[in-house]
Amino acid sequence: MRCIFCSIASGEIASKKLYEDAEIVAFEDVNPQAPIHVLVVPKQHIPALSDVPPEDSALLGRLLLVADQLAHRLLIAESGYRVVINTGVHAGQTVGHLHVHLLGGRAMQWPPG
Ligand code: AMP
Repeated sequence: MRCIFCSIASGEIASKKLYEDAEIVAFEDVNPQAPIHVLVVPKQHIPALSDVPPEDSALLGRLLLVADQLAHRLLIAESGYRVVINTGVHAGQTVGHLHVHLLGGRAMQWPPG
């Protein structure tokens, strides 16, 4: 299964990459919902959070740690930031490849819509 985020991860589709290692890539969201809006994505095609097998628990942890590292690098760690993993239709997931949204640079509302 290949999807748009697989193509971004492999470099076939251009993106503004902010981080890359053997397992993970992070790039700017094309339709930002905050001054900082980055997607942290596993290179491996996993459709959603609910599809992550137990053996990939370390990868899940690394996605969050990379999001926090980026928050520090992008200077939003101190003011605060939000990470979001939309999962399934009711959550508004539109791309069927697991991704962590990193949002910051403005005050946010709670509860989310
Ligand atoms: P979600 O609705 O949680 O599935 O989030 C998908 C996100 O991917 C949205 O915020 C889109 O703006 C973003 N997106 C879709 N296509 C691209 C792309 N080619 N490059 C960067 N971000 C994208």
